[in-house]
Amino acid sequence: QLTVPDIVTIPFIEGDGIGPEITGAAQKVINAAVTKAYNGKHSIEWKEVLAGGKAFEQTGSWLPDETLAAFQEYLVGIKGPLTTPIGEGIRSLNVALRQTLDLFVCLRPVRWFKGVPSPVIHPEKVNMFIFRENTEDIYAGIEYMTGDANCEKFKKFLIEEMGVTKVRFPETSSFGVKPVSKEGSERLVRAAIQFAVDRKLPSVTLVHKGNIMKFTEGAFKNWGYKLAEAEFGDKVFTMAEYQQIKKSEGKEAADAVYKHAVKEVKIIVKDVICDAFLQESLLHPEEHSVIATMNLNGDYVSDQLAACVGGIGIAPGANINYNSGHAIFEATHGTAPDIAGTGKANPSSLLLSGVMMLDYLGWNEASVLIENAIEKLMAERKMTADLYSQTENATLLSTNEYADALIS
Ligand code: ATP
Ligand code: MG
Repeated sequence: QLTVPDIVTIPFIEGDGIGPEITGAAQKVINAAVTKAYNGKHSIEWKEVLAGGKAFEQTGSWLPDETLAAFQEYLVGIKGPLTTPIGEGIRSLNVALRQTLDLFVCLRPVRWFKGVPSPVIHPEKVNMFIFRENTEDIYAGIEYMTGDANCEKFKKFLIEEMGVTKVRFPETSSFGVKPVSKEGSERLVRAAIQFAVDRKLPSVTLVHKGNIMKFTEGAFKNWGYKLAEAEFGDKVFTMAEYQQIKKSEGKEAADAVYKHAVKEVKIIVKDVICDAFLQESLLHPEEHSVIATMNLNGDYVSDQLAACVGGIGIAPGANINYNSGHAIFEATHGTAPDIAGTGKANPSSLLLSGVMMLDYLGWNEASVLIENAIEKLMAERKMTADLYSQTENATLLSTNEYADALIS
């Protein structure tokens, strides 16, 4: 539970490319919503901190210590897209930020606004919250490039120490390591189930590839189920419990318990193999509400589902540590250098991330105003260039006009 003062200081990174345009637009709309919702009782004091190209130009550092310190101090911040330095020893600024603050959840809500062009027939059925684990898995960056000394060492270790004989390792081989921990899996699943409890959502789906990767993805699923039963007791009914009852007392008995659980409005915790989930979430999106998954799966799943509701110009995201409270809300797209400075950028991704931020602060009266305004503009087909170009009878608005239309 956060204690939120009436006037909140929010550090923000403007971002590179279209960053300044969308940040200006989003802040303007957020300020207007907060003022209208609370009559001046609440407000945001924006504090600019530097990162990316702008930081490098002004300070010589891509990610100055003061920036990290500000996010540490103020807990909640927001950022535009950043240019990733090439060959500077930093893999990604986003990853550096996430690691420093141990932001272990990447939360991506996906919902559709009527009027937004979509490749699926029933986008209105897509309404999910993806909890993607942010610190482990094959994304941990433990990789050995063929030709490097460590790669040869690792290969020798596998063959000589571990006795791996099933796989042939030809001369030119590279390796990646997939670390998955009980603690890391549990904190992610705990956050997902707690979110479902708080928002009274019907289910949590553990998405994994445990049928093949039994000791990593399979362990994630098993740890998830065990945590659900141990920590959320009567609030949830898990499909692992269902399978157990089915085994000992038969399918009829298991079905009866399941039906009873649904009637009692328990949160159903289930699991789906990731490849099947990618199909199922297109065919029956209404069957899924909160998704809890590991890092790589979460990456794929997030982009597929975002595409169903209008794509990167509109899909928001946040990186959160639910234990310390630290959170950075962010546009999910890149810097879009091809349209920077043209007024074509859609500020919705960043703005809806701001909506998530307001919810996180408990300022729901303000966030609702913004969501309603976007809903209204989309229904009237008043759109920025990205959506306009795919929509019949639409009206084209620049980034700034769009923000002003939302405000009015
Ligand atoms: P980076 O190098 O930072 O990853 P990028 O251009 O490779 O940038 P994105 O920024 O994700 O990657 O953009 C992919 C495409 O989507 C580009 O054509 C870009 O113009 C478009 N795009 C991205 N964000 C937006 C936005 N907010 N509004 C409109 N179009 C966008
Ligand atoms: Mg790119």
